Amino acid sequence: MTRLNTLLPALQQALQEKPVSVYPESCFEVSGGELCIADFGAYDALLFWGENCPFAAAESALMDGLPLAKVALDHDCAAVLHRLLPFTAPKPVLSRERTFGMGDRLGIATLGHIRAAKKFDIYPVFAQQSMRELTLMCKTYDDVIDRVTFQVLQAGFTKGYGADGDHLKTLEEVNGAIASGCTMITLDCSEHIRGEGAAMDAAALSAACPLSAELEQRYLGQTFAVGGTQIAFTREDLQRCVIIYGEAIGFAKKIYDCCIAGKEVELEISIDETATPTTPAQHFFAANELTLAGVQFITMAPRFCGEFQKGIDYIGDLEQFDREFAQHVAIAEHFGYKISVHSGSDKFSVYPSVGRMTHGRFHVKTSGTSWLEAVRLVAQADPALFRELYQYALGVFEEARAYYHVSAELEQMPPIDGYTDDRLTDLLELPASRQLMHITYGKIMNEVNPDGSLRFKNRLYDLLREHREEYTAMLEKHMEHHLGLLFSQQ
Ligand SMILES: [Zn+2]
Repeated sequence: MTRLNTLLPALQQALQEKPVSVYPESCFEVSGGELCIADFGAYDALLFWGENCPFAAAESALMDGLPLAKVALDHDCAAVLHRLLPFTAPKPVLSRERTFGMGDRLGIATLGHIRAAKKFDIYPVFAQQSMRELTLMCKTYDDVIDRVTFQVLQAGFTKGYGADGDHLKTLEEVNGAIASGCTMITLDCSEHIRGEGAAMDAAALSAACPLSAELEQRYLGQTFAVGGTQIAFTREDLQRCVIIYGEAIGFAKKIYDCCIAGKEVELEISIDETATPTTPAQHFFAANELTLAGVQFITMAPRFCGEFQKGIDYIGDLEQFDREFAQHVAIAEHFGYKISVHSGSDKFSVYPSVGRMTHGRFHVKTSGTSWLEAVRLVAQADPALFRELYQYALGVFEEARAYYHVSAELEQMPPIDGYTDDRLTDLLELPASRQLMHITYGKIMNEVNPDGSLRFKNRLYDLLREHREEYTAMLEKHMEHHLGLLFSQQ
């Protein structure tokens, strides 16, 4: 036990700007002293008390005859923390039975995620951003991991967490994410998946894809017993598999060999961002070919039937989903990896099945829903700002949808004038306006005034700072709802 949280009056006396409190769970003894994170009202800072401070101090003082350093929460500070307190650094967790990704675009949501994660038998992936999200938020993987590092320390969460370089598409992106400390790479193979193969007839398939003797021997005239089902390939099925997935498999093999083999980095293969669903036979083919090529992966994300659109519940036939999902799980179990479910934000109707049918071995990713909770907070705490955001979002929706697959149309979004302040959050219950606010975050964060200043970003961060406890409590409840459903039928 450290004493820092009991020394607030002495800290206030020693420092020029007075901390209003010390986060009690952030107090740790480390070699050479004690440290904690303190709340200075408008911002947080790290305090180190002891000789030989390993951090670059922004301010130094004496407290009880010992040096006290006030340290900015920056990248250098995070790097020292990773060394002093290894639980603050990401580590590989994906091989654990239950893993759950909780992306935090704003860099302040992990505190709420931690409170929810603590209540369930899962290993969290708190740092999880796609290249698309990084670009839209003007961030780097260093930023993302640094922000999680401080929040993990602030909450004293020592269990360990993963960092996912999500939906990466090139060798440079993968190497960059690994260099920044990502412990998991989600390799997005979508640009190498040739979906047009799904619609080709027999003649077109034969013309486009003469099968090698090796592949014919491997797949034709055989049945593969997988779980309770049999998987067999006609010549056409096999040609289709080769056309759609052949190049993607080669791409995954190349990235694995160049960037991942021999490193302590876990690989997820993502084939989910395609127009047509992955059939069980195609899933089997991809898994089998990857395995034969020596690619070691921990999870795979097929494209399931129905729609997993951003920020809203599953759209589709639940019985069909269950039926096909069971086959995908059986294939994953056959090869010894886990099924990964992407765009898991708000997919409440499939969560019980996902928990039950995977026998409690899953990876699920969420991200945008935590941003939407921030938007909900704005609607409650500053209705005028919310009105401004909503109006702005309507104007940039068509541009923003280039990045995301959503079915919402502008004419489905009600004019905000019809809503009184106390009913503004109702807009976040409507799928269309929910998607509107979900996908326009990048535009909102980067919009500038005519004088060059940011139009919304600082106001949003100030408001969320002011209401930080409320935001954390909202996220705790919201993510608990997600996780509770995953565990509901186990
Ligand atoms: Zn995905």
